[in-house]
Amino acid sequence: MWVKNRDLYQEDRLQALGIAHGVTTRILGDMKVLEKRIGFFRSFGIQDQPVFLKQIHSAKVIRSSQLNGSSIEGDAWILNNRGRGSGDKDQVVGIWVADCLPVFFWNREGDIVGLAHMGWRGIAQGLAGVMVEEFGKEGVAAEDISAAVGPHILHCCFRVGPEVAQKFPVDSTVVREGETTYVNLSEEVRRQLEEHGVPEENVTFSLKCTACLPEEFFSYRREKLDLRMMAFLCLKH
Ligand SMILES: [Zn+2]
Repeated sequence: MWVKNRDLYQEDRLQALGIAHGVTTRILGDMKVLEKRIGFFRSFGIQDQPVFLKQIHSAKVIRSSQLNGSSIEGDAWILNNRGRGSGDKDQVVGIWVADCLPVFFWNREGDIVGLAHMGWRGIAQGLAGVMVEEFGKEGVAAEDISAAVGPHILHCCFRVGPEVAQKFPVDSTVVREGETTYVNLSEEVRRQLEEHGVPEENVTFSLKCTACLPEEFFSYRREKLDLRMMAFLCLKH
């Protein structure tokens, strides 16, 4: 379940595992601004700054071992704090969102975690299912995966044209009201996770719509501005 702490949305199951994480709100400012980020993390007790990907609306998943100091393209992170991946303990990773879905993943022990930036393009490419497959490569069975979808644009505001709707061939994902078509992105994420064997009870969804709530969230669809919220994840705490 998502709860709000100090203008930050957090998932109570991740909190219970002691994993530092969250999705910022508009009240905390544009997190693309470095000074804002530094101030935020200082108040949160995290000294390290997160690394970010060059987000390309893909289904490409990155491990921190692939980082080489230069900017790397992709839309999801996996951190592993056991075995060969134990160097990930100190890594803080982040993604930018303003309507896209920030989706957190973790295993039962909480030592393998992931964070994905899912817009409609990434979801249409199957990114939710890809995350389950990538966790599988880390030795995590689908039934041991939990996921939490943070605040994002709900289908009430995600009106699309036929070129987008046709990327979502499953009936439950596309909502038609007369001439107007909406895509329910979180429903498609739920469906992909179910199809890949993640138990339904392991997945939670924020019901906050970023486009409906201008006081709480930036929304690219509403504002068409380059203002971003940040989702972050770190195994350290
Ligand atoms: Zn809405």
